[in-house]
Amino acid sequence: MRNKIGFIFYNLILFFLCIFIYVFLNLHVVAICCLVIVIVYDIAFLTLCSIKFKYYTMGGKKALIYANIDNSKLLKLYYGNTKEKEIIKKIYNIIKEQIKYGPVKTFGDTYVFVYKYYNKSEIISLINKINNEIALISNDTVFNVTVSFGIQLCNKENYEINENKAALACNNAKKQEMNLYSFFDDQDGEEQLREKRILDSLARALKNNEFQIFYQPKFDYKQNKIVGSEALARLVQNGEIIPAKDFIDIAEKYGVTISLDKYVLKEVCKKINELKKNNIPFNTISINVSRNTLCEESMMEYYESMFKKYDIKKNDIELEVTERSISGYNTPFVKIRELSKKFNVSIDDFGVGNSSLSMLMEDKVKTIKIDRQFVIDKSESGKIILDNMIKLIQSLGFEIVAEGVETEEQKEYLKVKGCNVIQGYYFSKPLSFEDYKNELVKWGDNNGS
Ligand code: C2E
Ligand code: MG
Ligand code: MG
Repeated sequence: MRNKIGFIFYNLILFFLCIFIYVFLNLHVVAICCLVIVIVYDIAFLTLCSIKFKYYTMGGKKALIYANIDNSKLLKLYYGNTKEKEIIKKIYNIIKEQIKYGPVKTFGDTYVFVYKYYNKSEIISLINKINNEIALISNDTVFNVTVSFGIQLCNKENYEINENKAALACNNAKKQEMNLYSFFDDQDGEEQLREKRILDSLARALKNNEFQIFYQPKFDYKQNKIVGSEALARLVQNGEIIPAKDFIDIAEKYGVTISLDKYVLKEVCKKINELKKNNIPFNTISINVSRNTLCEESMMEYYESMFKKYDIKKNDIELEVTERSISGYNTPFVKIRELSKKFNVSIDDFGVGNSSLSMLMEDKVKTIKIDRQFVIDKSESGKIILDNMIKLIQSLGFEIVAEGVETEEQKEYLKVKGCNVIQGYYFSKPLSFEDYKNELVKWGDNNGS
């Protein structure tokens, strides 16, 4: 459309210029010559580019297509660098040849282009044609080169905005066994877009240090003092503070938690250093360790280096490992034993994972945190489970913390059953470092190791 307007606009200017030369400058021959040149040029342009012109001016709808080579890493391994590049180029040529007009943007193993269509079946037939051509490239019985396609039907929308949607549809196509293409579906897509937005925010936040750490005190109702706290990550976005529950699953799914956990550890080490320098007794601060972090080879080394840099003692920090993290790991006990040589380890969300009871056989663990679900359950059977859980954990010699305590009633019940340390909104919500520091000062000499 913009090209069409530009073309008309450009011709009008030249036309008025000729009139100007003819009428005001009285150069009749020059003006006529100019007009003839413009007309000849236009005819030549429209003839030579008539197909292209038709493309720009024809009606129909646009589809944004995102094509990505399947298993491109394997492709490189199998064919080698040079052949891989050749294949990428060949696929580009095939797409270019098949769509006929319009540019094909390429980056690495991906091609993005716009296709004009009247009927959806035209798109499917285009993809089939491209695929048939691609199938001829490799001529190899072991490794077939295939490409998956994601299609976003744009209608009158600006297709640039929708590139994400076509990419998501392409991802879906890859998940399907037989289909090499997939159309963007608004319902599925919204969820995936939400994930993508959170993931983008996480990446940005890590780059720009947009995370904040909040500290939730753990309070011992027998000793009447703060006996520690848990560091909880918060994402700060446009002034809004987003809690971990809204992004941690996505962070874990895409492996972002490794960087996040490292960042949290570093920040907590800095703050502990600050508390020590200001002589504020604080007790142990727990940090959460995700499955990805647990499996990361360099993690122990990194933690140790931070401990050294900020002069952190073993009892200053505790690592909270969730059963979620543990259950996917091949040799959890080995990993926990390895961790507990250098750090205090606690089991988080006890009772809601897959290997609850087996975790109690691990005597290297220091603390067990009972999940909120058992604290809030008011049913008779729920109470029997909670009572016996507390007995079992204590009789095995672990320290015990109840999570998510919100009411006086819950706190009293736990206290009567012998679980004195609670973490929950009842005593305090997670606090900014400044507020947490004030809270520590307020409880003053009651705290301390
Ligand atoms: P978690 O480790 O079990 O942390 C407790 C969660 O319960 C926190 O949510 C906390 O704000 C919330 N909570 C505490 N007291 C109450 C209460 O009385 N009522 C209710 N309804 N909720 C309460 P948050 O901060 O959203 O964190 C959710 C989960 O995200 C955490 O569960 C932890 O597994 C994970 N997480 C948080 N920070 C990090 C981090 O830095 N790294 C990793 N890997 N995971 C983190
Ligand atoms: Mg935790
Ligand atoms: Mg928990």
